Amino acid sequence: MALTEKVTAAVMPGPGRPIELRRYPRPVAQPGGAVLEMVASEVCGTDVHLHHGRLSGVPYPIIPGHVSVGRLLESNGPLRDVEGREIPAGALVTFYDVFGICGACWHCLVAKAATRCPRRRVYGITTCADEGLLGGWSEAIALLPGVRVAPLPDGVDPLDFMGGGCGLPTGFHAVERARIQLGDTVVVQGSGPVGLNAAVFAQLAGASRVLVIGAPAARLAAARRLGAEDACDIELVRDPADRARWVLDRTQGRGADVVIEASGNAAALPEGLEMLRDAGRYVVVGQYTDSGDVAINPHRHINRRHAEILGCWGYEFTHLYRSIALMAKHRERFRWRDLVTRSYGLREAGQALADMEHLAVVKAVIRPEASRD
Ligand SMILES: [Zn+2]
Ligand SMILES: [Zn+2]
Repeated sequence: MALTEKVTAAVMPGPGRPIELRRYPRPVAQPGGAVLEMVASEVCGTDVHLHHGRLSGVPYPIIPGHVSVGRLLESNGPLRDVEGREIPAGALVTFYDVFGICGACWHCLVAKAATRCPRRRVYGITTCADEGLLGGWSEAIALLPGVRVAPLPDGVDPLDFMGGGCGLPTGFHAVERARIQLGDTVVVQGSGPVGLNAAVFAQLAGASRVLVIGAPAARLAAARRLGAEDACDIELVRDPADRARWVLDRTQGRGADVVIEASGNAAALPEGLEMLRDAGRYVVVGQYTDSGDVAINPHRHINRRHAEILGCWGYEFTHLYRSIALMAKHRERFRWRDLVTRSYGLREAGQALADMEHLAVVKAVIRPEASRD
């Protein structure tokens, strides 16, 4: 379907303000850049945080939607994948939502911590709607020169990919950080998309058992379907000490080899450290926004426990690429598309955001195509 001269996008004008539809000129590909016709874009917890004004330095108004799938409409010069193959017009692709990583600063060159590059920018989060169509809640998106594009492999439907969303590479990265060993028991705190994908990749990394702690019931049912051996509902087991005991009861009183925090609640940290075995590894990936301070007992939680505590910020192209490859291989086993509770047109973007905020959906997807008159 060809785009008209004007395209519609759903705009978040500022924290707390309703989502509104705006019309923009059809984007033109810059030299080395491209234009995608949007097929699907995600609504995730980050968008809820953006709507609450919980992230600093966001240049409102923004077009949200950082992880997306589109159809290549045009490129200004050949657009290539990482193998050097030219991507043909019409191909279904996603792209690494992070751009502008400079490759020249201390973080990039010395620390090799590209996700902390100060020049790093993210589609749909640090891009202003006045700069152009740089968010996925839109009929079209402009890919700037240098944005890394990944074609969806044969058989991976856009809804499969969106069922993973940004939780796919983020969960993958957390599992990589955790260095899971064959036969490990892994606890995942949090049953949102990051936690669910961490549960998937923990199994693929060799964990023999995965236990998930979270809510609501629909997300825990998804965790079980994805292979979690057992799930603990925090709405039913309300005392953190009882939840720690729930883990100890399932690990001969020792605790889990690995605990991955994907909850977004600061109180999960001392709770999760109580679930960790001696000399275990604890990965914090859920604290994407500042949810406050918590007390930790350095003696009991860290020193005597001989614990390894690792942070995990964002993800790199390698995590996106490899997580998609695993999705292509294992899509029948894990059926990521079933995590998509509902698809919404652009006009329903505000409703999608509200449903995500109230955890009424596991994964919400915006389908701009469905919005056309
Ligand atoms: Zn840099
Ligand atoms: Zn996201």
